[in-house]
Amino acid sequence: MALQATKFKCTFCEREFVRKPWFERHMCTKKQRFLDRNNITVIRAHRLFMHWQRRTGLLRRAKEKTLEAFCKSPFYNAFLKLSEFTSAEYVMSGFKYVDWLVDNKIPEKKWCNAHDLDGFREYIRESEDAQSQAKKTCKNIRVWCADNGIDIPEFFKCITPGQALNMVRENKLSPWVLLGYDPCVEELVSRFQGEILHTLYDHINVPYWLDKIERDQDDILKVRKILDGNMNAT
Ligand SMILES: [Zn+2]
Repeated sequence: MALQATKFKCTFCEREFVRKPWFERHMCTKKQRFLDRNNITVIRAHRLFMHWQRRTGLLRRAKEKTLEAFCKSPFYNAFLKLSEFTSAEYVMSGFKYVDWLVDNKIPEKKWCNAHDLDGFREYIRESEDAQSQAKKTCKNIRVWCADNGIDIPEFFKCITPGQALNMVRENKLSPWVLLGYDPCVEELVSRFQGEILHTLYDHINVPYWLDKIERDQDDILKVRKILDGNMNAT
């Protein structure tokens, strides 16, 4: 006796169906993932996954996985979580974060641990050049001023020391600017006292940065020029 021919097969879980309506109604985790593929979190997760594969040398560029293959991957959930985590925690670049995770051999279960971000942020402060940090800081200042209805030239006078500390911790306000741009030192850092000052020392190595700024005159002149150009714009 011949078995009835199977006509419909889910390409994600391989389950087979004899009737089209059953097949169409079928839903499994991997198919659901594929249907979610235009979601920005999934798109970012896929990009991070491809970058991770390249960085770890697991796959050559030519063999990069398609989004459909990614939906079937055992790493799907880990990278979806990483995608959500990196956008929620304002990690500047998810790719750089993946590089850091790979280079420091951070185990997968610790990828989305906010406590581990301070190490990454310190690495970014150290590795990113002064001008890029100054430009990013200017961008973040513009966003803050727009959100708070403050004119850009008033920023250093208006932001509270507590708010500024959060920006420093999240690398939104670079030590190059905080400690090396005179209007910031005069209008903002001069208001840091007691507990705030203590917390600043927890976030960044202040003597190290003061020394670095003192030594790198070339860089600090460029930083000041970038800030002058941006802070006086209205
Ligand atoms: Zn299925």
